[in-house]
Amino acid sequence: MPETQVPVVISGAGPNGLMVACELALAGVRPMVLERLPAPSDEPKANGMVGQVIRMLDMRGLYRRFTGSDDPPHPAYQWIFSGMSVPLFGVRDNPMYALMMAQPNLSGCLTSAHANSVSTSAGATS
Ligand SMILES: Cc1cc2nc3c(=O)[nH]c(=O)nc-3n(C[C@H](O)[C@H](O)[C@H](O)COP(=O)(O)OP(=O)(O)OC[C@H]3O[C@@H](n4cnc5c(N)ncnc54)[C@H](O)[C@@H]3O)c2cc1C
Repeated sequence: MPETQVPVVISGAGPNGLMVACELALAGVRPMVLERLPAPSDEPKANGMVGQVIRMLDMRGLYRRFTGSDDPPHPAYQWIFSGMSVPLFGVRDNPMYALMMAQPNLSGCLTSAHANSVSTSAGATS
């Protein structure tokens, strides 16, 4: 493939675009991520991830990399829904996993996770 062509262009280096890029890289595809901002945003947005995405990160070897610990993810014993505390202790296949992580930090970790196989172009719109 000529150097001026890339197999996949991803619009936006947010968590979703970066995660797609990581998945493609694992499959041997070298995508190009175009991000219109000239530098990573430090705007505070999400403070963490909740649910099955945590298991998926663990399957990809990213959970322990992000936490810096060898511990696998553990489901939460309770969670707050609509202001109510819901006990989850003993629930079979409890799906309530969580990882508190500020969004700018998550984006940085995803960017470095496959830095060798994902190209990112800052200040570029699609
Ligand atoms: C103020 C605020 C607070 C929030 N708080 C929470 C929270 O507490 N909990 C929670 O779960 N979620 C929260 N969210 C939502 C969370 O931030 C989003 O769900 C998340 O950012 C979505 O990720 P994304 O990758 O889809 O999009 P984004 O993070 O929006 O990333 C999209 C990227 O694409 C770039 N882009 C857009 N158009 C183009 C283009 N044409 N060409 C190139 N680049 C482009 C943008 O610059 C951006 O970097 C909050 C959002 C905001 C704005």
